Amino acid sequence: MHPDVEALLALQADDQAIRVLEEQLAAFEPRLRAMAQARTAAADGVAGAQAALAAEERRQRDLHEQIARHKQLHERNVAHLDAVKRMRDATAAVAQVEAARRILAEEESDLQAVTRRVGELRAAVEAQERSGGEMQAQHAVEQEEIAAQRSEIEGQLTIARTARAGLATHVNRPLLSKYDRIRSARRDGAIYALRGPSCGNCDTSVPMQRRNVMAASGTIEVCETCGVLLYAGA
Ligand SMILES: [Zn+2]
Repeated sequence: MHPDVEALLALQADDQAIRVLEEQLAAFEPRLRAMAQARTAAADGVAGAQAALAAEERRQRDLHEQIARHKQLHERNVAHLDAVKRMRDATAAVAQVEAARRILAEEESDLQAVTRRVGELRAAVEAQERSGGEMQAQHAVEQEEIAAQRSEIEGQLTIARTARAGLATHVNRPLLSKYDRIRSARRDGAIYALRGPSCGNCDTSVPMQRRNVMAASGTIEVCETCGVLLYAGA
């Protein structure tokens, strides 16, 4: 086999190994992205639940204060009712006391509902925080595994790239740049052996005269149909 062919085949084997390793590295990305998105969504969920809880707690405090104020007012009205002597004033005072009592009853029932919602929202916040924490722990384990796998693959890649640089010095410059150009356009292979009378990649037949030259001198030709490098196999 012509040394150029031998050198290019070694280079191509290494390039393919590098490609596989690069694809393995890239394959981690969607999982890492999905995990990051899930964590963001969980954090947003916790923040939303906390905000809803805070709003309801504010409402609960306001109602407490309002009820306390109205109770005071009511007590004053009741005291006033005891104090009034004349019938006409007493009727008005009774109506006032009754109205205040109704308002207070409504407010008390509002407060009960708000207190119930505060309890529910607190439980929701706790549940979201718990599941977020569990997810975080799971992700930490998985991220550590991925980091270990990645660093192993990166180590292999460094070795393969160093080997590639060494192999490239064995190929003459014009041929190497031709190979690199073809390889950057079509990643699955740049140099093929003839298969019988045809291109090993696209199967277009190569004229006999060119094949004879290739076989005799070991030269590398370009397939006129698919553009890959061709050599006469053993
Ligand atoms: Zn071809």
